[in-house]
Amino acid sequence: MPPWAGSADMAEPTANINPANPTEVAREALRRLAMRKIAPTPDNYQALYEEIIGKPAAEAAPPDGAAAALAGLVTDLSLHHPDLGDVVDKLGDAVRKGDWKLARKQLGLVSVQLKKQADGSGSQSEELATLRELLAKTLELALAALLGHVPRLAEDAQRLAGEVRAAHSAAALREAAAGLKTLWFHVDLNATQLLDQQDMLKRILLLLVENIGELLDDDTWLRGQIDMVQELLVGSLRVPTLQDVEKRLKEVVYKQGLVKHSLREATATLKATMTTFVSRLSDAVVTSDEFQGKLAGHIEQISRTEDVLELNRILETLLHDTRAAQTDTQRARDQLILDRDAAQTAEARIRQLEDELTQMSALVREDPLTHSLNRRGLDEEFGRELARAERYQTAFSVAVLDIDNFKALNDLRGHQTGDEALVHLVKVAKEALRVTDHIARLGGEEFLILMPNTGIDEAQRTVARLQRTLTKQYFLHNNERVLITFSAGVAERASGEAQDALVARADAAMYQAKQAGKNRVLKASSASPDAGR
Ligand code: GH3
Ligand code: MG
Ligand code: MG
Repeated sequence: MPPWAGSADMAEPTANINPANPTEVAREALRRLAMRKIAPTPDNYQALYEEIIGKPAAEAAPPDGAAAALAGLVTDLSLHHPDLGDVVDKLGDAVRKGDWKLARKQLGLVSVQLKKQADGSGSQSEELATLRELLAKTLELALAALLGHVPRLAEDAQRLAGEVRAAHSAAALREAAAGLKTLWFHVDLNATQLLDQQDMLKRILLLLVENIGELLDDDTWLRGQIDMVQELLVGSLRVPTLQDVEKRLKEVVYKQGLVKHSLREATATLKATMTTFVSRLSDAVVTSDEFQGKLAGHIEQISRTEDVLELNRILETLLHDTRAAQTDTQRARDQLILDRDAAQTAEARIRQLEDELTQMSALVREDPLTHSLNRRGLDEEFGRELARAERYQTAFSVAVLDIDNFKALNDLRGHQTGDEALVHLVKVAKEALRVTDHIARLGGEEFLILMPNTGIDEAQRTVARLQRTLTKQYFLHNNERVLITFSAGVAERASGEAQDALVARADAAMYQAKQAGKNRVLKASSASPDAGR
């Protein structure tokens, strides 16, 4: 046995090799040749063959058994390693011909080729490690960074990178692959959603821009900018496009700022003009308080608003109110003219009535306050009675009455009460006197009583009776008894005596009654013989 054969550390497991199957044994023998880097001589092959089947090859199989085994090996090799090509074919030829020298050479070549393949598989595993690392890096650097907006997926990518690095077994690799598949699925889903979002944002932006366009009906420059932004947006959303859109929108914003500023200035000017206008209107138009109030309200509104549309609206209301006020003014003026005409008519009517009244009062015989005879009535009655007395040669007396302290009554209780006292006196007198008697007002609180068919004594008694009646039928003022007394002088007409003379005598007697202490009736002294002449 060679020194290498059977050494403990080089022993190969033989449990899963069927010693009865020459193909299996031959393959194992070749493998061991390659593994142990033993020169592929038929002897060495033979020795390994015997080692595998556990007994000397000579005993186990005759030389043609080894040849059959080699033939089986050739079949197996050409089946499982077609890449070895004509090296295996030539080995088959050599085995068939029993050219062991050539067989040995070809076996050596097969061994070298297999060794090469084994070395190749070692470099393959190095490449695999490199790939694993690349995949892990891709996952944790590139993909995780790309998924920054979806933290959950970024975490998944990070975790998978770790798993890929640690996947040294086929099972671990399979698990990592499953994880990758799930991640792809989610990333794909997410990308679709992102595209949808972008699409939606784009549509919203387009709408906004379209709206801005609607607002700009005059400014052609702004309109041009907006149109361009719209055109850019319709295309695909690339960063340079978006930058362009941003730039143009910024310009629009700037220009709008300028326009807005001038608009604000124009508004301020309009406001000032309107305020001046309304103030002047308020000064110039003399109208109702209501309109002035409205104007004040408009000024207040103007000062509060910055909105041109609102100012326009106020101006409209203002004009409407002004027009209404003009109508009101017109109406008020018309009314004023009507009133003036009516007043003039009324004034004329009053003057006419006053004239009529004056004429009538000349005709009327009564004193309007007391309904006693006035001077005119007195003169008429006096003339009639005088004629009668003359005709029938009857007595005819008169009395002159003057109320006592009448001024004090007026002063104490007022002129009105004084008037009422006069009315009361005449009323009581009319009741107390005979129907043929007459009472006339001479003026102020002086009265004359005509007593036809009456002599001086009876006249004095009559007037004295009136005095008593007045104390009984007292005059009430504010539920207070007001006592009216008078002083009187009576005189009987002498034959042919004139009216004035008769009244003068009675008046003199009245004066004497006052002198004697008032509230009394005195008889006049006889008429002088030539009194009436
Ligand atoms: P005497 O007793 O001396 O007559 O005093 P008297 O105050 O009555 O006399 P006097 O003649 O000084 O005053 C009369 C007053 O009568 C003066 C005037 O104010 C008042 N009088 C004259 N006419 C009227 C009238 O129509 N109505 C009223 N209420 N007062 C009148
Ligand atoms: Mg008097
Ligand atoms: Mg008097």
